[in-house]
Amino acid sequence: MSDLVPLQAVLNGRISPLPAEASGAGRRGCPLSDLRDRLRRAGLRPTRQRLSLGWLLFGRGDRHLTAEMLYDEAMRAKVPVSLATVYNTLHQFTEAGLLRQLALDGSKAYFDTNPSEHHHFYLEDEGQVIDMPDCGITVDALPEAPEGMEIAGVEVIVRLRRRGSNRRQG
Ligand SMILES: [Zn+2]
Repeated sequence: MSDLVPLQAVLNGRISPLPAEASGAGRRGCPLSDLRDRLRRAGLRPTRQRLSLGWLLFGRGDRHLTAEMLYDEAMRAKVPVSLATVYNTLHQFTEAGLLRQLALDGSKAYFDTNPSEHHHFYLEDEGQVIDMPDCGITVDALPEAPEGMEIAGVEVIVRLRRRGSNRRQG
């Protein structure tokens, strides 16, 4: 179900990107030409590395991942990139508005392939991020923004743990 068309084959033009219905249940695949257009529209030159990483990132619907997670996927897909390149590309995609960086945990940056404003559950012990359903929360009674500022967005993170796993305090 998670099988993607081999990336090298796609990039070399030997296999055309998978038709939507061949990509398995649920979300549609992200054809390569769409990805190329998407990068161009965001002002990024569609280099091979950006296409490779973009293919991995956006080919499986909305998800949340760290640079390390994407790097592991790239290694499994035999994409020749360094972890530093993965970091740089994630930050370029974020600046271009293709990704949104989530501030969940000081030690790890998560990137969301859905850049629109939405809220999250965060399973702290497992490091897993889940989108909250649309109707999940309403935030009202926000404080006034400081002088000269306006509120640009509100994102809520609800931290979760498995029942029965509450750790001892102290
Ligand atoms: Zn999300």
